[in-house]
Amino acid sequence: METKKVFNFGSGPAKLPQPVLNQAQRELLDYDGIGISVLEMSHRTSDFSKIINSAETLLRELLNVPENYKILFLQGGGTGQFSAVPLNLIDLKEGRCADYIVTGTWSAKAAKEAEKYGKVNVVNPKADRYTGIPDSSSWSLNPSASYVYYCCNETVHGIEFNFIPDTKDVILVSDMSSNILSRPVDVSKFGLIFAGAQKNVGCAGVTIVIVREDLLGKALKECPTVFDYKVQAENNSLHNTPPCYSIYILKLVLEWIKNNGGADVMEKLSKQKSSLIYDIISSSNGFYSCPIDVTCQSRMNIPFRIGNIDGDQDLEKLFLEGASKLRMIQLKGHRSVGGIRASLYNAVTVEETQVLAAYMKEFVKKHQP
Ligand code: PLP
Repeated sequence: METKKVFNFGSGPAKLPQPVLNQAQRELLDYDGIGISVLEMSHRTSDFSKIINSAETLLRELLNVPENYKILFLQGGGTGQFSAVPLNLIDLKEGRCADYIVTGTWSAKAAKEAEKYGKVNVVNPKADRYTGIPDSSSWSLNPSASYVYYCCNETVHGIEFNFIPDTKDVILVSDMSSNILSRPVDVSKFGLIFAGAQKNVGCAGVTIVIVREDLLGKALKECPTVFDYKVQAENNSLHNTPPCYSIYILKLVLEWIKNNGGADVMEKLSKQKSSLIYDIISSSNGFYSCPIDVTCQSRMNIPFRIGNIDGDQDLEKLFLEGASKLRMIQLKGHRSVGGIRASLYNAVTVEETQVLAAYMKEFVKKHQP
């Protein structure tokens, strides 16, 4: 059946590469000639072992993950990791805390969750509105912190780190849920990286955790076993039933990334796509505005307002209605910030971004006073 072309700029779960969907469709009823679907396959079979092992091998290769790091495929989403990180890494010894660099909704939520388990120190000044990353010279990092945590790309606000915070010898932890594999990253600089798959590398259900081996085995006794990184690492993420189908989709997406040039090419394309949109915003004489400091505007999620900095509600509604008529969907900003948000993850093509860019240009012409 021929499906109608839709332009999906959703923030997640997000667009998957078309070849991945095609392959999943072909293999849905009969995976690799074995006569059953991956949906019906035991996680203890050699067929599933091949799937999970190749997902791990691909991820290791694409991100150049050093040998002394374990890769885990867990459930519970990014939100689960907001708890799992402190439960595994926080040290309750007198005077020790965990440092959180809070730059938006997701790092704020992570910090709040961590407070349940230990002492949290928010290292940067509290913002009324998240519009950037405070200069690192203003951060009060604690040299004896258990770890320093930050969110590499704030999906709601569209704030992305284009540098790795220097934490000296303190363990660095990063939530890369919305920008993993959109560029190369030096994994050796981190103690732990985690990412839900449903934006850049797959569908909802599986969360990737990349953790340095020497950090295993330090979980608080209250840590649920399914979240204990050591237990999961010792069992190749099969302590309990893993999200088998999501891991299979992850493997297909990783193959697709590899076949399309890997993290370097994803980075090049992400710059090209995001520049198309940011250029229109900055040359629109204030018709469009993006509230985020130019130094940390996200390549993945571009929030913008129409008419003025707080948004002209009527024009924004008109913009979304017009976009939807042209089958450009999921462009509405997050309910907490309003406005418009275009998400340009790996699976969104340059051509699709050009369609949005052309529409934005047309809209200015029609509605600029
Ligand atoms: N971290 C980031 C950066 C996110 O964008 C999200 C969700 O969008 C989360 C964490 C939470 O992920 P989940 O909904 O899978 O728990």
